[in-house]
Parts: sequence; C-alpha cells; structure tokens
Amino acid sequence: MILEINISWVSVLFVSVYGVIIWLLSRYYTNRLLWKIIKQESDGLAFSKSLQDASHVNVLLKKLLQKRSRELKRLQTLEEYRKQYTGNVAHELRTPIFAIQGYIESVIDDESMDKETAMHFLKNARKNTFRLEQIITDLDTINKFESKVLKLQKSEFDMYRLFTDVIESLEFYAKDSNIQFEIHGCAAESHRVFADRDKVEQVLVNLGMNSIKYGNKNGLTKFILNDLAASVSIEVSDNGIGIEKKSLNRIFERFYRADTSRSRSEGGSGLGLSICKHVVEAHNKKLFVFSTVGKGSVFSFQLDKV
Ligand code: ADP
Repeated sequence: MILEINISWVSVLFVSVYGVIIWLLSRYYTNRLLWKIIKQESDGLAFSKSLQDASHVNVLLKKLLQKRSRELKRLQTLEEYRKQYTGNVAHELRTPIFAIQGYIESVIDDESMDKETAMHFLKNARKNTFRLEQIITDLDTINKFESKVLKLQKSEFDMYRLFTDVIESLEFYAKDSNIQFEIHGCAAESHRVFADRDKVEQVLVNLGMNSIKYGNKNGLTKFILNDLAASVSIEVSDNGIGIEKKSLNRIFERFYRADTSRSRSEGGSGLGLSICKHVVEAHNKKLFVFSTVGKGSVFSFQLDKV
C-alpha cells in the first residue's frame, strides 16, 4: 500500500518536473527565436543587446510594426503606380493603332476609292506609325534611364554652337505659327561645357518643340545662357499659354499633360519632359520650371563647364 502511494507520488513529481522543464525550454527557445527575429529585422533601428527587457522589446516591436506598415504602404503605392502606368501605355498605343487600322480598312473596303484619296489615307496611316515608333522609342529611353542602363557619352562642346544647331532644326516646325527664336547671353563667344551633346540636344529640341506646340502665333522663344562660376545656366523661355500652378510639379511625370487638348492635337504623348528630366538628372543637375498662365514658361538647368 505504502509502496503504491510512493510510486504514484513519484510519478506525479516526475511528470510535474518534466512538464516544468519542457515549459522552461520552450519558453527559452521561443524567446531566443523571437529575439533573433527582432534582431534580424531591426537593422536600421537602434538595436542593442543590453535592451533585453520587456519594455524595450515592446518599443522595438512597435518600431518594427511601423516600419513594416510604411513598407506595405510603399508597395501599395508602387502597385498602384504600376497599374496606372500599364493603363497609360495601353491607352497611348491604342490611339495610333486604331487610326492605322481605320485608314487601311477604308482603303481595302472601298474598291471604288480613287488613287488620290487612297494615297491620302495611306499617308495618314504612315504618319501614325511614326507616332507609334516615337512613343515606343521614348518609353524605351525612359526605361533605360530608370534602370541605369543608359550611359552618358560626355565630351567638350560649345553651347552657342548647339543653340544654333537646335534652332535650325526647329525653324521648320515654327513656320506655321511664325514663332521667332533668339539667343541671349552668350553671343558668339565660346562657352564650352562637358556633357553628353546628343542628349542635351534632345532636351533643347524637346523644350523648343514645346515652346512651339504651346506657344501663341507670332510668339518668341529665347535660348538664354548665363555664365556661372563652375557651370553655365541654360534657359528656354517662351511667351506661350503657360502652365497652371497645380500642374507645375506634375509635368515631368510620364504621360502627364497639363493642356490635354492641345497636347493631343499636336501629337504629344506626355513623355518629352520626363525624358528631359532624366537627361538633366543623369548629369547630376536639376530641371526647373517657372510659368504663369497666359504669359509663358521658362525651363532651366545647369551644365558643368569644361
Ligand atoms: P507632350 O508630348 O504632351 O508635349 P511633355 O512631357 O513635353 O508632353 O509635356 C507635358 C505637358 O506639359 C504638356 O502636355 C503640356 O501641357 C505642358 N507643357 C510642356 N511644355 C510647355 C510649355 N512650354 N508651355 C505650356 N505648357 C507646356
């Protein structure tokens, strides 16, 4: 009888001790695991081994949760942006593709169409293939800048010379609206800069083309150069329609149009200024815009001198 009681007492004790040991061990390993996770996740947060008490763990966990929720928000914004971007690309491509289809189908469907009309339709279709190509080239350029694949080919060149080349290529497009071009600030003196000439030319052509597209009849576009200590400042100013305040910090975004109707009728895709911004930023400089509705706009940036 006594032996039986002793055996059951010992087994109860054994089971209790075993239970306590298991509980302590699991607590120890859970804490270690938790601590390891906190330590791993807390890079960037002030982590210190001496903070191993409950209140500090609490603070650290709160900070981690805040960090995670910020990351989640950033990912949601990126996802939203991705969806918007895909939608924009599809929309921009759809317009010229539908136009091409329409013109070609008209020619095919109307067997009695005279040669002159057919030619006119085909020319319009071809014009839209150019537009399609332009959009794809622009998107490709932006993509290359953003994925840092595009490398600048820097060399020394003269800004005055580049101004005159750019104006020469723009004059044809400015004929209809009779917009004049002037160069200010550098006369024929030499102002040599160290930059990627082709890319800077692309920026000046884009800005100049915009001054025509969003300019008024008989308007004036100025290419202005100011000599600063180690750099030159370049301005392209126009006395065109100007840009509303609410659009000023958005016009460098891909596909953003401040004046939707004029941009579309002029064949704009809303990518030109985005490319300009990328080119200027690749030169470690910033592209600025100042504008007043009804008075005109000024775009400016700097380049390093030789
Ligand atoms: P787009 O192909 O539409 O011209 P951009 O990226 O070059 O695209 O310009 C974005 C928008 O900024 C244009 O749609 C236009 O509304 C506005 N914008 C750009 N340049 C000018 C300017 N010189 N004057 C007025 N508005 C301008």
